[in-house]
Amino acid sequence: MKLQGKTAIITGGSRGIGYAITEAFIREGARVAVCGSRPASAEKAAEKLRAVYPAADILPLGVDVADSSSVSLMVDAVMKKWGRIDILVNNAGVTAAKPITEMSDADFTDMLNINLVGPFLCTREVARVMIAQKGGSIINTSSMVGTYGGRNQTAYSASKFGVNGLTKSCAKELGPFGIRVNAVAPGVVGTDMVAASVTDAMMAAMQAITPLGRMADPKELAGAYVYLASDDASFTTGMILPVDGGIVM
Ligand code: NAD
Repeated sequence: MKLQGKTAIITGGSRGIGYAITEAFIREGARVAVCGSRPASAEKAAEKLRAVYPAADILPLGVDVADSSSVSLMVDAVMKKWGRIDILVNNAGVTAAKPITEMSDADFTDMLNINLVGPFLCTREVARVMIAQKGGSIINTSSMVGTYGGRNQTAYSASKFGVNGLTKSCAKELGPFGIRVNAVAPGVVGTDMVAASVTDAMMAAMQAITPLGRMADPKELAGAYVYLASDDASFTTGMILPVDGGIVM
């Protein structure tokens, strides 16, 4: 029970990596605000979790992380229910592959708004709470593409390089308040995102350059988040932790 008594917000918690993180946090004793882009998807995830963990304290919330008023409402709802926020996981994200020459203004800015402005807005709101509490842990979901870049991934990789910059700068700025800020950089993970965007040929090519020779199950990511959220990582901040099967692109 590494997160006993702690309160966590997980954006993009309704499915994929975020759902696996939410489930692991519940198993470790945390109270969780499970956030999806729509109230119905968050509620559906909460129902699924309650069926397995009937004693869990779960708050399902619909939030658009790219919208500051929606983010404020999310933080208000969590503060009203539990009165504190110990852990924020900025995990919500989208991807799309397109050559830069075919990318519209909106293709680029919409992705930046969800993947980078979203974590900024959530971090800003939650940091105000954590500063008053004198502590907390913020974990961002980056990507291997935030280290290596990727062909046809201009917007996505720019957003994840930005997430790394946000992580390292916030670690410096918020450290004096007892707030740790880290990121997890997954490789290829079997989620809806990958099913929708990675072709069989791309998958074969990625597996060929992954020492472990396969993609990850979302559950294989969750332990890294538990570690960074817990007191086991009490002296770890500003780290971008790869959980990628050893891939080198
Ligand atoms: P997914 O598509 O299964 O889940 C994405 C989640 O983000 C969903 O819960 C969705 O509701 C939420 N979301 C999307 N737009 C939102 C918005 N505007 N406001 C609030 N929530 C929104 O994807 P996933 O694979 O689980 O991805 C989770 C994170 O992991 C993303 O940040 C993604 O970039 C990152 N990632 C994924 C992989 C992978 O291989 N799957 C690899 C590296 C990084």
